[in-house]
Amino acid sequence: MVMSIAQNLATIHDAIRAAESDAARAAHNVRLVAVSKFHTADAVAEAIAAGQTLFGENRVQEAAAKFTGLAARGLPFELHIIGTLQRNKVRDAVKIASCIQSVDRIEVLQEIERQCAKIGKTIAVLFELRTGEATKAGFSDYAALEYAVALCAQGQFPHVMPRGLMTIAPNTDDQEKIRAAFRTVRETRDRLAEAYPTLRLTELSMGMSGDYRIAISEGATMVRIGTAIFGARHA
Ligand SMILES: *Cc1c(COP(=O)(O)O)cnc(C)c1O
Repeated sequence: MVMSIAQNLATIHDAIRAAESDAARAAHNVRLVAVSKFHTADAVAEAIAAGQTLFGENRVQEAAAKFTGLAARGLPFELHIIGTLQRNKVRDAVKIASCIQSVDRIEVLQEIERQCAKIGKTIAVLFELRTGEATKAGFSDYAALEYAVALCAQGQFPHVMPRGLMTIAPNTDDQEKIRAAFRTVRETRDRLAEAYPTLRLTELSMGMSGDYRIAISEGATMVRIGTAIFGARHA
């Protein structure tokens, strides 16, 4: 049986509510980021028609092509960039996105500041923490991450609003390993939030189609789900 995007979204919203409840968390504290990479603008439009407005894309060029067209059609959406950013893609990324979830080095932060200053835009960012081998992306040591956060707290990047952390869990069937990774990210966020109380480091973007329930039980505030909404990707 082929489920529609609207049906998949409804199923996931139910599962998110159930996971919040199981974790004794208040309802509606987890935002769903619909990851539309490799899927068409029409698929995104279908999700928007079903009430989904927050989307995630990995590649800036693909995102720009797709979402510029959707904007021209007057469709409402918010876009987060969730893939590793090359420095030369930052200019286009900050034009179309309200958040860059995948800040993994100081140079990217500097470039985001530079490009946002040019267009007079302030943008939210999350710092990506590396917790597995699934990707080479993300800060892999606390000192480097803390240094980046400290520079933000000192006001070095006035057009950048750090909001929390993001991770891609290890690619494994071992649920306890996945849970431990999410827990590490939450504890790291807690530690940074305590050290830098002037920043509002409230967000934890973690959990994908296969592991979002675990992520919610470990405190995720955003889950990034592609396959379970749009179906398999044909890349
Ligand atoms: C592709 C992707 C997702 C969504 O993965 P699914 O398994 O399809 O839900 C989430 N986060 C990032 C960073 C991704 O690249």
